[in-house]
Amino acid sequence: MKDHYQYKSPVTGEIYDPKTSVRYSEIPTFMRAPLVSDLSEIDIALVGVPFDIGVTNRSGARHGPREIRNMSSLIRLFHPVTRVNPFDLCRVADVGDVRVDNAFHIEAAIESIKSFFWKLHNAGVVPLTAGGDHSITYPILEAIATDKPIGLIHIDAHTDTSDTFLGSNVHHGAPFRRAVESGFIDPMRTIQIGIRGAQNTTEGWEYSLDKGMRVIFMDEVDQLGIDGVIEEARRVVGDASAYLTFDVDGIDPAYTPGTGTPEIGGLTTREALALLRGLRGLNFVGADVVEVSPPFDNSGNTALVGATLMYEILCLLVETAQK
Ligand code: MN
Ligand code: MN
Repeated sequence: MKDHYQYKSPVTGEIYDPKTSVRYSEIPTFMRAPLVSDLSEIDIALVGVPFDIGVTNRSGARHGPREIRNMSSLIRLFHPVTRVNPFDLCRVADVGDVRVDNAFHIEAAIESIKSFFWKLHNAGVVPLTAGGDHSITYPILEAIATDKPIGLIHIDAHTDTSDTFLGSNVHHGAPFRRAVESGFIDPMRTIQIGIRGAQNTTEGWEYSLDKGMRVIFMDEVDQLGIDGVIEEARRVVGDASAYLTFDVDGIDPAYTPGTGTPEIGGLTTREALALLRGLRGLNFVGADVVEVSPPFDNSGNTALVGATLMYEILCLLVETAQK
């Protein structure tokens, strides 16, 4: 048992690893990783951002981190394809949630999120985050892209490059427009995958295309196949630093009904796994899974999908963090 796996019961003094103990027991951290408070002991931090004031329609993603933690008790260690245990390669810990004190004030909340991730980034810790709605990715990118714009792999039904809506320019349909404007992401090294659904305005689609992002609408996913999409993602992002952001509405609502803005005709969970597994070796500096909304998730399957996507992405991050 590796040192960073160990828990010591304050009552019995027993030393054990929660990840290989009875999995329905204990307080549910992400993937039953230890809850660690010293950043110098962590390579990859699992973070919750319980915030959904950025939604334009159905709320509830503020409950995402807690339900993903709960369902992530089902996650086990060894990957079925690579046979790798990500927890053997890196020190992975749950660092709790961003404390969003100003929960009614979106700009102040975004500041809280940014300063939390800034501290992780300064400590050299790679964040893997559970949202929260997609507005949380803008302050995460601000904290991570400190030197120059980074690349982005963005899986979603929506481009999230709209402008001001209902009085806000930092709502969950705008983070990647703001990130381009602020120089946090390089639009020429950005790929958006799974885009679909009718819109009341085409401004988001046009912004992405005008700025040179590679936008793969769902009909093109069908034409290219997942292998073709993987090839495009690797070509667009290249070898330099990149962030991975996965909105669960990129997947078909048959699999992920518990989300704020569902659009039918999306990726299957099998396609999503194949897509992620095709991204091995890219230079990821962080990632998130967003828009799991437990109030709409009657079966709990959306939270399970979110937890499993986090595990798959963790397997990508540990390979990069090891280099
Ligand atoms: Mn989104
Ligand atoms: Mn979306």
